[in-house]
Amino acid sequence: MEQMKVIKLSKSCISRKEKEAVMKILDDEFLGMGKEVASFEKDLSAFLGRDVVCVSNGTAALQLSLQAAGIGIGDEVLVQSLTYLATFQAITATGATPIPCDIDLKTFTIDVNDANKKLSEKTAAIIPVHYSGGVGNLEDIYQFAVSNNILVIEDAAHAFGTKYKNKLIGSFGHITCFSFDGIKNITSGEGGCICSDNKNLISKVKDLRLLGVINDTEQRYANKRTWIPKVEEQGWRYHMSDIMAAIGRVQLKRFEELSTKRKQIALKYDEFLSDKKAFELLNHNYEIVNPHIYPIILNKNISRDVVRKKLKSVGVETGIHYYPNHLLGFFNKGGETILRNTDEIFLNIMTLPMHPDLSFEDVNYICENLVSITK
Ligand SMILES: *Cc1c(COP(=O)(O)O)cnc(C)c1O
Repeated sequence: MEQMKVIKLSKSCISRKEKEAVMKILDDEFLGMGKEVASFEKDLSAFLGRDVVCVSNGTAALQLSLQAAGIGIGDEVLVQSLTYLATFQAITATGATPIPCDIDLKTFTIDVNDANKKLSEKTAAIIPVHYSGGVGNLEDIYQFAVSNNILVIEDAAHAFGTKYKNKLIGSFGHITCFSFDGIKNITSGEGGCICSDNKNLISKVKDLRLLGVINDTEQRYANKRTWIPKVEEQGWRYHMSDIMAAIGRVQLKRFEELSTKRKQIALKYDEFLSDKKAFELLNHNYEIVNPHIYPIILNKNISRDVVRKKLKSVGVETGIHYYPNHLLGFFNKGGETILRNTDEIFLNIMTLPMHPDLSFEDVNYICENLVSITK
């Protein structure tokens, strides 16, 4: 029997150039954090127009940003419940408490009014999550944060390449964290980075990623090590390796190509699905949004399980982004949290395949099947 083609929900998109770049590092036989990471940071810095520190992944980027900002035990951090588990775990890793907030139903980004209700003396920061690549009303979030004297740490894991008011996400604001994991808008295999204009914070993050050893980064970039370390706080082994940086540098050079393809796919989906009654779309403006995922919201009378099973049977993978964190035991120790919008939609959201290697025929095939299943 002929094997059915499987359309993946997401995947890495790797060309010969990434492979050659990795081979070169392997040939050099220095695989740790060295010159290639320094170069990747320089490239990212030039792309975003400010200081960038690379780390082992996006979760580490969030955790180190919080720690470097002095946030930890006794502090509260406002964050939307509808996000990847990583955002919440990065907060608890510092000893701080995540305070789950609701979302705005138009953009699935944090509802500032709800965040405002959850503000307390202990609130130290707000982490807006740029869900699916859209950022919602970021200006409102900054206004809210500045007037309440709290820090904004943007979880921009979905939004590498998205623009807001003509500026790239990551090029402005307090602190922005990106993820370069295998399926993100650009990848370094695993990896992530922190962007900020705050020189103290940047230098602190550089130390914290190398076990807290003060000024070890410069040594590493010169292919040396610090043999007599100066250490004054808890650090972590959260640095990036030259192998990862080599992949990331090629992906950054391919940014236009990869981003254009993602946008074209999202537009094709929009075109095909926008007038259908069985579900709603997020309706991003893809002139400024670089889409990471393509979620739809099914009508309540449609069973998501059935739709997903039927799509799977014709070779189409789907996902769920996300199961809300306020419903997980580890984050919900003190009784019931009710988040009206999140609770209303989380059983009905479903993510369609999105990656630069999808063909337009794939998108048509997915849409035709989805439409006939939900008719
Ligand atoms: C991917 C992701 C992260 C974590 O990044 P990793 O590199 O996987 O650690 C954090 N937040 C969101 C919303 C993500 O999608």
